[in-house]
Amino acid sequence: MTAFSDHWSLTDDELAQSGNGRNFNDNEIHPLLSRDSQMAIEDAVRQILVNVGEDIERDGLIGTPGRVARAYAELLEGYTQNVETLINGAMFDVEYGDGEMIVVSDIEYNSMCEHHMLPFSGKAHVAYIPNQKVVGLSKIPRIVDMFARRLQVQEQLTNQIADALNDHLDAAGVMVVVEGHHTCASLRGVKKHGVNMTTTSKRGTFKTDAALRDEFYHLIGK
Ligand SMILES: [Zn+2]
Repeated sequence: MTAFSDHWSLTDDELAQSGNGRNFNDNEIHPLLSRDSQMAIEDAVRQILVNVGEDIERDGLIGTPGRVARAYAELLEGYTQNVETLINGAMFDVEYGDGEMIVVSDIEYNSMCEHHMLPFSGKAHVAYIPNQKVVGLSKIPRIVDMFARRLQVQEQLTNQIADALNDHLDAAGVMVVVEGHHTCASLRGVKKHGVNMTTTSKRGTFKTDAALRDEFYHLIGK
């Protein structure tokens, strides 16, 4: 059994109607989950509640398993998406200066760490050097969002964004900088690295050209 029903083929419009962000009734099944999956998640949440010493019959907790299941469906909806569907043909031939970069900065994201299933969030900054093709501006934040809405570590998230752009754009170079605040570190009082973390991924010319990297850092104010 897969945890999420198969929505790989959803169009943008259908995804917009997937129910994210709206209010649900107590017993409602989230559109991105099968009934079996939601029931299984709800049972697991009840097990957690009982085993931390809670009374699952008390008023405040009656609807909690359903709410948690629907929240996970939304926070982890990236499992129902893929890069091809998101880009959806929004690639354009553009005459742009040879070796010039395109930068999309301050892309806010929210993710969940795969080690603790606790949130981490921050900003992603993306640069690429097009090789004939550019991608529609709105698509880059959506790609960031898709990978963020899967269980993640920040290092992997950074690499996945870089690889997706590199593979789909056939770019001359791609660089991604991700900043993250990790609640699994801050909430648990760990006063070491990992609370605020910056990760980078470089592909193509960004690997070899320090001046290009410096220009990118300058453009994103780093
Ligand atoms: Zn963690």
